[in-house]
Amino acid sequence: MRALTKLTAGPGLELVDRPEPQCGPRDVKVRVLRAGLCGTDLHLAGWDDWAAATVVPPLVIGHEFYGEVVEAGPAVVGVKVGDRVSGEGHVVCGRCRNCRAGRRHLCIRTKGVGVNRDGAFADYVVVPATNAWVQPADLDPDLGAVFDPLGNATHTALQWPLIGEDVVITGAGPIGVMAAAIARHAGARYVVVSDASDYRLALAEKAGADLTVNVTRETLGDAQRHLGLKEGFDIGLEMSGAAPAVTDMIENMNHGGRIALLGLPHASYELDWGKVITHMITLKGIYGREMYDTWYAMSQMVATSERLRSAVTQVITHRFPAEQWADAFETARSGQCGKVVMDWS
Ligand code: NAD
Ligand code: ZN
Repeated sequence: MRALTKLTAGPGLELVDRPEPQCGPRDVKVRVLRAGLCGTDLHLAGWDDWAAATVVPPLVIGHEFYGEVVEAGPAVVGVKVGDRVSGEGHVVCGRCRNCRAGRRHLCIRTKGVGVNRDGAFADYVVVPATNAWVQPADLDPDLGAVFDPLGNATHTALQWPLIGEDVVITGAGPIGVMAAAIARHAGARYVVVSDASDYRLALAEKAGADLTVNVTRETLGDAQRHLGLKEGFDIGLEMSGAAPAVTDMIENMNHGGRIALLGLPHASYELDWGKVITHMITLKGIYGREMYDTWYAMSQMVATSERLRSAVTQVITHRFPAEQWADAFETARSGQCGKVVMDWS
């Protein structure tokens, strides 16, 4: 089969011919139809310090995928050959304290598809059947391929009730834009999104943001004045991983404001802890998706809201056949894009 592979330690990827993965008794084998590109894949391709410390080549990369089940192990229940599925990219141990309590997103032994085991930028991928989320047969395959990042957005945005709240989102990457759509759907009053890219802020506007802030020209304080907010934002969703974004967010929260942080910083940084403490601001880190309550919530929201469905689908700005994977990576690296999806069918 075709597989986009990290063959040796160092920068670069190769589209090579590899044996098809074997399906274990509790696994499903999925014929990949679409796969989404994520920042993780760029780190793996570029081979930064994180990639060098994490990956053991040879490795097929890719973890955002949608496809058709072509084989199910004898012990599998609930997923069958012919089902269309999206993949949950975190494979958990099932036996640690959190797993046994049903908090699988907090598993201490999480392994990443396409990071710690062979991934989905290939004709076939094998995952535990529990990692396959069965989708309606008529779901748009492109939309099916972005359920993993949509799950990040949903998990982060729905940490607290949003009805009537003023929400600020820092970072208009694909996940920040999808979070804006979810916040709108979930009943926020104002949704404000910041980024340094006008291209990306335009996507956030289409997704339902009331106001966008280009941080190269304005601040979140300007946005507050523009909207007439007197006390600050109620809810912050940090989707950039950029220290200045977090600083500006904390500066502009109401007392008692709550911030969910998904963006991963490249290095540790300083914060105005005095403000966090005296304003009683809650900071909560977010990882992955709740397995599988986040999946349930996003499936039902997408199934019942045409507006949300199209807001999420418009985040996919570029599509490439798998053979043009190098162009797909180049586009994702450029930042002049929303989500980039590869067609493996
Ligand atoms: P992305 O890199 O495409 O988007 C990040 C955006 O932040 C970019 O558009 C960038 O221009 C913007 N940005 C940079 N500095 C900014 C600033 N000062 N203010 C406002 N915006 C700024 O990433 P993505 O795919 O949308 O993912 C969002 C973040 O979530 C990334 O940091 C990613 O690493 C992280 N992530 C975390 C998890 C998790 O489980 N915690 C999972 C997936 C992704
Ligand atoms: Zn576990």
